[in-house]
Amino acid sequence: MNHPLIQENKFVIPISYGSTEVIDTGKWGFQKPHTQFMTAPCQESCPAGNNIPQFLYLAQKGEYGNALLTILKENPFPGICGRVCFHPCEVSCNRDKYDESVSISALERYIFDTTSDQVPNLNPVQNVNGRGVAVVGSGPAGLSCAYFLRLLGHKVTVFEAYKEAGGIMTYGIPGYRLPKAIVKKEIARMIALGIEIKTGAKVGRDITFDALNEYDAVFLSIGAGIESPLGIEGEAFEKVMHGLDFLKRINSGSSIPGGQDVIVVGGGNTAMDVARSSIRNGCRVTIAYRRGRAEMPAIKDEIDDTEEEGARFEFLIQPVRIKMLSDKRLAVEFQRMKLGEPDASGRPRAIPVEGTDFIMETDYLITATGENVDLVSLPTDLIKNGLVYVDNFLRTKNAKMFAGGDVVDQPRTIVTAIGAGKKAAISIDLYLKGVPPEKMFSGIRVGDKGSLSFEAYTSGGRFEMNRAAQKVVTFDKLNTLYFEHTSRVKKRKLSREASLKSFQEVNLGLSAEEATTSVSRCFTCGTCNYCYNCYFFCPEGVIALDPIKGTKYVDYEHCKGCGTCAKSCPRNVVVMKEL
Ligand SMILES: Cc1cc2nc3c(=O)[nH]c(=O)nc-3n(C[C@H](O)[C@H](O)[C@H](O)COP(=O)(O)OP(=O)(O)OC[C@H]3O[C@@H](n4cnc5c(N)ncnc54)[C@H](O)[C@@H]3O)c2cc1C
Ligand code: SF4
Ligand code: SF4
Ligand code: SF4
Repeated sequence: MNHPLIQENKFVIPISYGSTEVIDTGKWGFQKPHTQFMTAPCQESCPAGNNIPQFLYLAQKGEYGNALLTILKENPFPGICGRVCFHPCEVSCNRDKYDESVSISALERYIFDTTSDQVPNLNPVQNVNGRGVAVVGSGPAGLSCAYFLRLLGHKVTVFEAYKEAGGIMTYGIPGYRLPKAIVKKEIARMIALGIEIKTGAKVGRDITFDALNEYDAVFLSIGAGIESPLGIEGEAFEKVMHGLDFLKRINSGSSIPGGQDVIVVGGGNTAMDVARSSIRNGCRVTIAYRRGRAEMPAIKDEIDDTEEEGARFEFLIQPVRIKMLSDKRLAVEFQRMKLGEPDASGRPRAIPVEGTDFIMETDYLITATGENVDLVSLPTDLIKNGLVYVDNFLRTKNAKMFAGGDVVDQPRTIVTAIGAGKKAAISIDLYLKGVPPEKMFSGIRVGDKGSLSFEAYTSGGRFEMNRAAQKVVTFDKLNTLYFEHTSRVKKRKLSREASLKSFQEVNLGLSAEEATTSVSRCFTCGTCNYCYNCYFFCPEGVIALDPIKGTKYVDYEHCKGCGTCAKSCPRNVVVMKEL
């Protein structure tokens, strides 16, 4: 029979004036709760292995400096990635399945911009067995490798052919997307760590490859700095230029005259940067691409911005001949194309359509149809299909030489190059210790997409001991009852008029208020943020939480194994395990 008060439709709440520990019913539950950190899908998709839920959790608490320190444990270039990374993390973000993804890259930038002047460098470990490693090329792959090797206590010397370090971040990407001051600041942190960078030192020209034998190991990261030729008549005319050469000129302060017509051939990042730089020089720009808009390899935001700034797009055309006119303008003969079956890159093949030739006149033609590796400076035994051949651990055929970045077969992006630099640093460290890499790599992977955790590596393969941490929290595992629907903050941009007159940064980043709003949208999937749900909902009152010490305690003597805590946890941190 029901309690008399219940029969009168009155609620009954049992109140205990002492500890509920007296109700000791013993361990009769057949399952018990476990709290564990797990991998968020954003984190798995970040090639640099950034611990996104952890740094966003710290930012949610207002600890922006600690958030930067967390990023720096996995990624040496937050200021750069927060600006020009193609952010695959946001594509995988669980929040995208709820309303809109979290603005991860904008927050990475905000954290860097607001705290980097106050936050000290991470300390390299004191490694009495530290060895000497040479890094060839100072792009994101080379500098990332140098950074992690230095943190592991090795002595690192970077050789760079150009007079400034940074690779494409310095001489390729224009300042309106990536201000040079940001690149310099990130590199200054590397130098302060004790990394030696020798600029104006091209290996194969100023130093021989054999001279690198004095080092205990070598990392090759010379990138792909040679523009693919079009292979058509008229390509040698002075007013036909290569995209990367053009950008190098722009980045070193010189430019082409304004008021000219420019045709840019290509659909990648280089083509977009050439187009937008030319527009800033007062030129009228047409982009000619042999496939359609959907097949363009450039970052989507870049394509949109290029169009917004006034470039005209002509799809499904390719140049076949260039002639010089009497007034020194160029007459470029184009042929129309159609899309066919997918090629090796997975994109539909571009097939010429006979009898569709037509002519466009222009002052300049700038080619941006892809970049190749400068094979001349490389030992021939390392090369396969125009690239340096490496195995899964970035080892080349030469036992002490490793390679990564654009010089090997991998996606050509900054964050992939950073991830490769980290992987190589770990491989090199293991090689120098004489430890086979297989087991260690399986223990430090972040999810299943190839990213690695440097933090896990330096704590002796932490994930190896806790496999669950490598499992990814999918959207269906979250309890979204506790989250309100909200929208992403819209990008703030420089006005179009101001943008087109200068190389000032276009994306203005987040304001303090926008950062707070944006960071609060993160579910911190797989990371406890001490929301206290499990504590409040536990009917037995057996959960204790201490957000200051970062501890959680379950009194298993009194836990009944009901699973309420696991069901009420919004972020899949509590799971029930059968006894
Ligand atoms: C114009 C342009 C825009 C891009 N925009 C983006 C973007 O917005 N986002 C993104 O994610 N990716 C972008 N990318 C791709 C990205 O920049 C590359 O994937 C990345 O820089 C590759 O890094 P890396 O270290 O392998 O090579 P690099 O950055 O090319 O660096 C290689 C370095 O090695 C040096 N070097 C070459 N040979 C020698 C030698 N023999 N001795 C010593 N030094 C040598 C070079 O001078 C260079 O500094 C862009 C690429 C281009 C060309
Ligand atoms: S580096 Fe790129 S992928 Fe990684 S968190 Fe930052 S924006 Fe996302
Ligand atoms: S909600 Fe936060 S932790 Fe979850 S996937 Fe998105 S950014 Fe990552
Ligand atoms: S319910 Fe909240 S406090 Fe409890 S484990 Fe989950 S995230 Fe942490």
